[in-house]
Amino acid sequence: MAIMNEGPAMSGELMTQAQRNSGAAEDSLRMVSAAPMGDEQVSDEELRPHALSSFIGQPRLKAQLQLFLDAARKREVPPDHILLAGPPGLGKTTLAMIVANELNVPIRVTSGPAIQHAGDLASVLSALEPGEVLFIDEIHRLPRAAEELLYIAMEDFRVDVMVGKGPGATSIPLTLPRFTVIGATTREGMLPSPLRARFGFTAHLDYYPHEELEKLVERSSTVLGITLEEGAAEQLSLRSRGTPRIANRLLRRVRDWAIVHDLPTVGAEDVKEALELYQIDSQGLDRLDIAVLNAIVRNFNGGPVGLNNLAAMVGEESETVETVCEPYLVREGFLVRTPKGRVATRKAWEHLGLQPGNDVTTVF
Ligand code: ADP
Repeated sequence: MAIMNEGPAMSGELMTQAQRNSGAAEDSLRMVSAAPMGDEQVSDEELRPHALSSFIGQPRLKAQLQLFLDAARKREVPPDHILLAGPPGLGKTTLAMIVANELNVPIRVTSGPAIQHAGDLASVLSALEPGEVLFIDEIHRLPRAAEELLYIAMEDFRVDVMVGKGPGATSIPLTLPRFTVIGATTREGMLPSPLRARFGFTAHLDYYPHEELEKLVERSSTVLGITLEEGAAEQLSLRSRGTPRIANRLLRRVRDWAIVHDLPTVGAEDVKEALELYQIDSQGLDRLDIAVLNAIVRNFNGGPVGLNNLAAMVGEESETVETVCEPYLVREGFLVRTPKGRVATRKAWEHLGLQPGNDVTTVF
């Protein structure tokens, strides 16, 4: 299977100013961030499964995709376009690569932000081979004009190439071979409905339960040549926030620990100690998550507290607290958002070793 990259590396493209100013930049520095860190895309590659059978978890999605691909193979036509939606780090890129591999066709990789003008997309489209897979990561970030070009290409397998400039410019229609677009998005709601409607199959990826992440950690440890003792994979999976990319990253840090301490095998206690060093606790909360919970509980007696006050208390931008910490804290039931502000749940108090409503002195 040939892989061609178009434009800047897909999600590793240079950070935009907007991202730099937002929680996204902050997030990419965290051990528990679901976005790739540094050169992690390279290390992601070595851990990617290449067949649907070795893709762990998401059983319903896998069964649907298998049927979809089998039908296309029997009909001897490229499958309909596929949309993969879900939070970062859950396996969208991996699935796109698997589809191309299962169909034994090349895959061309690009991303919404890498396409700056409709012309960039036109040149990618006009170079496609019959049956090829075109993977567009962060498809919700395509410029408007490129989106419109893509509708036509996906539906009619045609692209209008502009020749010349100014009033003398003409457009020449170019017929494309049949191909399959695989779009990936973390923000399905931002996709305009005409674009969404052109996908024949939409798959939603969900966070992984611990048992599935445990299997994933076991698989990755075999690939990386690490011997895990009983209970070690479980400890890793519990700290991985339901996200394969985080599980693989934590496993690599545990591998570093084992190398430095000359450990031939890694036990559950080693995992705990190694990850404590990185300030990741038993539930996968890091320093910032704990600071947020502490602020609500200790300084505001459990809340409600407004986002700006909370952010000031932990010394972070409001956006960082809102986009980086809160989703996981809310999902795991540590925090609720109410019209009056953020409130810490009983689970949060107990996680900090406190009794709700007691033990703390209110400062306001
Ligand atoms: P996304 O494109 O959704 O951000 P990726 O496909 O790049 O996520 O996955 C991130 C990392 O997690 C990769 O190393 C990939 O191999 C691994 N991974 C993701 N999902 C699975 C899975 N179901 N089974 C095995 N490995 C997975």
